[in-house]
Amino acid sequence: MRQPVLFIGHGSPMNAIADTTYTQTLSKLGQELMQAPPRAILVVSAHWLTRGTFVTRMEHPKTIHDFGGFPKALFDVRYPAPGSLEIADLIQTTIPKVDFDETEWGLDHGTWSVLRHLFPQAAIPVLQLSVSMTDSPAEHVKLGEQLKALRSQGVLILSSGNLVHNLRQIQWDEKAKPHDWALEFDQWIAEKISKRNVAAILKEGLTSSLGRLASPTPDHFLPLLYTLGASDSKDELKTEYEEMQNASISMRSFSLGRN
Ligand code: ZN
Repeated sequence: MRQPVLFIGHGSPMNAIADTTYTQTLSKLGQELMQAPPRAILVVSAHWLTRGTFVTRMEHPKTIHDFGGFPKALFDVRYPAPGSLEIADLIQTTIPKVDFDETEWGLDHGTWSVLRHLFPQAAIPVLQLSVSMTDSPAEHVKLGEQLKALRSQGVLILSSGNLVHNLRQIQWDEKAKPHDWALEFDQWIAEKISKRNVAAILKEGLTSSLGRLASPTPDHFLPLLYTLGASDSKDELKTEYEEMQNASISMRSFSLGRN
């Protein structure tokens, strides 16, 4: 069964332990995805930035608490999903430019803060793919295109980032009134995604004046390019969730090819 691709906005690590419309939406989405359970989940997380592209290859990836200044309850979270040597080998064979990770990365909060709502059982093998900061945006899309073949082998490709992620203009109140420019960019990119206008996203997504406000650094934006690359025009778009948290973080989440 061909798996869909997902882009999930993750926002603050506190979303991992929250009970909100956002987390309830992810729970429900996960239940629906379990009607055709993936063989494995490959996560492209905004929180694993490298030179070159790496995939985790381990039996038991550890839960990484890659943040500071949050309550103990967040540090107590574990997501004990297995890894998969077999799928790591498959990915490396499919895309020779991907190397096996030798740093023993594991699962960072870009991955587990989302997966613990989507797949609370933590029973499906999870691998992470790093985001190479030395690749151009077009190269990220190309890598996504190469990942597409994994979907028909039962691999769910999940990108975890945020389409608007400006921590300099954040408001501490999660429900604060969104900045006008944040809403404007969020709408702009939603429209480009709906039309599969990858060229416009590549050209302006990070470099227009709005794009620079939305992503002062590219890390949370780049996972989107994998979602776009790994999908095609036949994949139906579903907006799974939309909200602007903390005035400048878009929680917009969508799927492609989920029927
Ligand atoms: Zn993040």
